[in-house]
Amino acid sequence: MIIQNTKLTCFIEQSRIQQRTTEIAHELSKKFVDQTPIFIGILNGSFIFLSDLIREMTVPSEVDFIKVSSYAGEQSTGTIRLIKDISADITHRHVIIVEDIIDTGLTIKFIKDRMLEAGPASVTIVTLLLKPDMVKIPFPVDYVGFEIPPEFVVGYGLDYDQQFRYLPAIYRIEGNVNE
Ligand code: 5GP
Repeated sequence: MIIQNTKLTCFIEQSRIQQRTTEIAHELSKKFVDQTPIFIGILNGSFIFLSDLIREMTVPSEVDFIKVSSYAGEQSTGTIRLIKDISADITHRHVIIVEDIIDTGLTIKFIKDRMLEAGPASVTIVTLLLKPDMVKIPFPVDYVGFEIPPEFVVGYGLDYDQQFRYLPAIYRIEGNVNE
Protein backbone atom coordinates (compact mmCIF):
# COMPACT_ATOMS: atom_id res chain seq x y z
CA MET A 1 0.00 0.00 0.00
CA ILE A 2 1.04 3.63 -0.47
CA ILE A 3 0.74 6.18 2.36
CA GLN A 4 2.17 9.71 2.13
CA ASN A 5 4.14 8.76 -0.99
CA THR A 6 5.77 5.82 0.80
CA LYS A 7 5.34 2.24 -0.41
CA LEU A 8 4.76 -0.13 2.51
CA THR A 9 4.53 -3.93 2.50
CA CYS A 10 2.86 -5.81 5.34
CA PHE A 11 5.44 -7.80 7.27
CA ILE A 12 3.57 -9.02 10.39
CA GLU A 13 -0.23 -9.03 10.29
CA GLN A 14 -2.34 -7.61 13.10
CA SER A 15 -3.82 -11.02 13.99
CA ARG A 16 -0.34 -12.56 14.44
CA ILE A 17 0.71 -9.65 16.67
CA GLN A 18 -2.47 -10.05 18.76
CA GLN A 19 -1.95 -13.79 19.13
CA ARG A 20 1.71 -13.47 20.17
CA THR A 21 0.93 -10.59 22.55
CA THR A 22 -1.70 -12.73 24.28
CA GLU A 23 0.75 -15.64 24.59
CA ILE A 24 3.40 -13.41 26.19
CA ALA A 25 0.82 -11.83 28.54
CA HIS A 26 -0.27 -15.27 29.71
CA GLU A 27 3.33 -16.35 30.36
CA LEU A 28 4.00 -13.13 32.29
CA SER A 29 0.77 -13.59 34.25
CA LYS A 30 1.91 -17.06 35.33
CA LYS A 31 5.36 -15.78 36.28
CA PHE A 32 4.05 -12.83 38.32
CA VAL A 33 0.97 -14.30 39.97
CA ASP A 34 0.32 -12.47 43.31
CA GLN A 35 3.17 -10.00 42.55
CA THR A 36 1.63 -6.84 40.90
CA PRO A 37 4.58 -6.18 38.56
CA ILE A 38 5.31 -2.70 37.24
CA PHE A 39 5.62 -2.33 33.47
CA ILE A 40 8.13 0.28 32.26
CA GLY A 41 7.39 1.24 28.65
CA ILE A 42 10.17 2.79 26.58
CA LEU A 43 8.71 5.81 24.78
CA ASN A 44 7.57 6.42 22.20
CA GLY A 45 7.55 3.18 20.23
CA SER A 46 6.32 0.72 22.88
CA PHE A 47 3.07 2.46 23.82
CA ILE A 48 0.75 0.39 21.61
CA PHE A 49 2.38 -2.97 22.39
CA LEU A 50 2.38 -2.12 26.11
CA SER A 51 -1.28 -1.16 26.14
CA ASP A 52 -2.28 -4.38 24.36
CA LEU A 53 -0.01 -6.46 26.61
CA ILE A 54 -1.33 -5.20 29.96
CA ARG A 55 -4.94 -5.67 28.86
CA GLU A 56 -4.25 -9.37 28.20
CA MET A 57 -2.66 -9.89 31.62
CA THR A 58 -4.70 -11.86 34.14
CA VAL A 59 -2.89 -10.34 37.15
CA PRO A 60 -2.95 -6.69 38.31
CA SER A 61 -0.07 -4.46 37.21
CA GLU A 62 1.16 -0.87 37.30
CA VAL A 63 2.60 1.18 34.42
CA ASP A 64 5.27 3.85 34.08
CA PHE A 65 7.35 5.19 31.19
CA ILE A 66 10.92 6.17 30.40
CA LYS A 67 12.21 8.03 27.36
CA VAL A 68 15.72 8.08 25.94
CA SER A 69 17.32 9.28 22.76
CA SER A 70 20.25 7.59 21.08
CA TYR A 71 22.91 9.34 19.11
CA ALA A 72 25.05 7.38 16.71
CA GLY A 73 28.37 9.17 17.21
CA GLU A 74 31.33 9.11 14.91
CA GLN A 75 32.01 5.57 16.04
CA SER A 76 29.60 2.66 15.89
CA THR A 77 28.88 2.86 19.64
CA GLY A 78 25.95 5.26 20.10
CA THR A 79 25.43 7.39 23.19
CA ILE A 80 22.15 7.16 25.05
CA ARG A 81 20.68 10.22 26.76
CA LEU A 82 17.84 10.17 29.30
CA ILE A 83 14.92 12.42 28.24
CA LYS A 84 12.25 11.37 30.76
CA ASP A 85 12.80 9.21 33.84
CA ILE A 86 10.24 6.97 35.56
CA SER A 87 8.22 8.48 38.42
CA ALA A 88 7.64 5.28 40.39
CA ASP A 89 9.82 3.89 43.16
CA ILE A 90 10.84 0.47 41.83
CA THR A 91 12.91 -0.64 44.84
CA HIS A 92 11.90 -4.24 45.71
CA ARG A 93 9.41 -4.26 42.81
CA HIS A 94 9.16 -6.74 39.95
CA VAL A 95 9.95 -4.63 36.89
CA ILE A 96 8.99 -5.59 33.32
CA ILE A 97 10.72 -3.39 30.72
CA VAL A 98 8.77 -3.21 27.46
CA GLU A 99 10.56 -2.30 24.23
CA ASP A 100 9.15 -2.13 20.70
CA ILE A 101 12.28 -3.31 18.91
CA ILE A 102 15.81 -4.28 19.90
CA ASP A 103 18.37 -3.56 17.22
CA THR A 104 21.93 -3.22 18.65
CA GLY A 105 20.59 -3.53 22.20
CA LEU A 106 22.28 -0.31 23.38
CA THR A 107 18.98 1.24 24.48
CA ILE A 108 17.78 -1.78 26.43
CA LYS A 109 21.19 -2.23 28.10
CA PHE A 110 21.21 1.42 29.23
CA ILE A 111 17.70 1.13 30.66
CA LYS A 112 18.24 -2.25 32.33
CA ASP A 113 21.43 -0.98 34.02
CA ARG A 114 19.57 2.11 35.21
CA MET A 115 16.68 0.06 36.64
CA LEU A 116 19.11 -2.26 38.46
CA GLU A 117 20.63 0.73 40.28
CA ALA A 118 17.28 1.23 42.07
CA GLY A 119 17.37 -2.27 43.64
CA PRO A 120 14.27 -3.91 42.10
CA ALA A 121 13.18 -7.43 43.14
CA SER A 122 13.63 -8.54 39.50
CA VAL A 123 13.96 -7.12 35.99
CA THR A 124 12.33 -8.87 33.03
CA ILE A 125 12.75 -7.69 29.43
CA VAL A 126 10.00 -7.97 26.83
CA THR A 127 10.36 -6.83 23.25
CA LEU A 128 7.91 -7.14 20.40
CA LEU A 129 10.68 -7.38 17.79
CA LEU A 130 14.34 -8.44 17.90
CA LYS A 131 16.96 -8.24 15.16
CA PRO A 132 19.24 -11.12 16.23
CA ASP A 133 21.85 -10.37 13.56
CA MET A 134 22.41 -6.90 15.06
CA VAL A 135 22.12 -7.38 18.79
CA LYS A 136 25.20 -7.26 21.04
CA ILE A 137 24.17 -7.44 24.70
CA PRO A 138 25.64 -9.49 27.55
CA PHE A 139 22.27 -10.80 28.82
CA PRO A 140 19.29 -12.67 27.32
CA VAL A 141 16.07 -11.00 26.26
CA ASP A 142 13.41 -12.81 28.30
CA TYR A 143 10.40 -12.52 25.95
CA VAL A 144 10.57 -11.85 22.21
CA GLY A 145 7.47 -11.44 20.06
CA PHE A 146 9.16 -11.98 16.71
CA GLU A 147 12.73 -12.25 15.45
CA ILE A 148 13.17 -10.27 12.24
CA PRO A 149 15.96 -9.66 9.71
CA PRO A 150 17.94 -6.39 9.93
CA GLU A 151 15.43 -4.33 7.96
CA PHE A 152 13.68 -1.09 8.93
CA VAL A 153 10.05 -1.62 9.93
CA VAL A 154 7.19 0.70 10.94
CA GLY A 155 3.66 0.53 12.35
CA TYR A 156 2.12 -0.70 15.63
CA GLY A 157 3.91 2.12 17.49
CA LEU A 158 7.07 2.15 15.38
CA ASP A 159 7.75 5.28 13.33
CA TYR A 160 9.72 6.63 10.45
CA ASP A 161 10.25 10.32 11.16
CA GLN A 162 7.20 10.25 13.49
CA GLN A 163 4.98 8.79 10.74
CA PHE A 164 3.15 5.43 10.61
CA ARG A 165 2.94 4.73 14.37
CA TYR A 166 -0.86 4.40 14.13
CA LEU A 167 -0.81 1.52 11.62
CA PRO A 168 -2.29 -1.65 13.20
CA ALA A 169 0.29 -4.06 11.70
CA ILE A 170 4.07 -4.06 11.08
CA TYR A 171 5.24 -2.90 7.65
CA ARG A 172 8.49 -2.80 5.75
CA ILE A 173 9.31 0.43 3.89
CA GLU A 174 9.88 -0.35 0.19
CA GLY A 175 10.71 3.18 -0.89
CA ASN A 176 9.38 6.55 -1.95
CA VAL A 177 7.00 6.48 -4.94
CA ASN A 178 8.46 9.74 -6.28
CA GLU A 179 11.99 8.34 -6.54
P1 5GP B 1 19.00 -0.20 19.74
O1 5GP B 1 19.45 0.68 20.86
O2 5GP B 1 18.60 -1.59 20.18
O3 5GP B 1 20.02 -0.25 18.61
O4 5GP B 1 17.78 0.51 19.06
C1 5GP B 1 16.52 0.48 19.62
C2 5GP B 1 15.68 1.63 19.11
O5 5GP B 1 16.01 1.96 17.75
C3 5GP B 1 14.22 1.25 19.12
O6 5GP B 1 13.61 1.57 20.34
C4 5GP B 1 13.68 2.08 17.96
O7 5GP B 1 13.37 3.36 18.42
C5 5GP B 1 14.85 2.19 17.00
N1 5GP B 1 14.78 1.20 15.91
C6 5GP B 1 15.65 0.17 15.68
N2 5GP B 1 15.27 -0.54 14.61
C7 5GP B 1 14.14 0.04 14.13
C8 5GP B 1 13.26 -0.27 13.02
O8 5GP B 1 13.42 -1.21 12.22
N3 5GP B 1 12.18 0.56 12.88
C9 5GP B 1 11.94 1.60 13.71
N4 5GP B 1 10.84 2.33 13.46
N5 5GP B 1 12.74 1.92 14.76
C10 5GP B 1 13.83 1.14 14.96
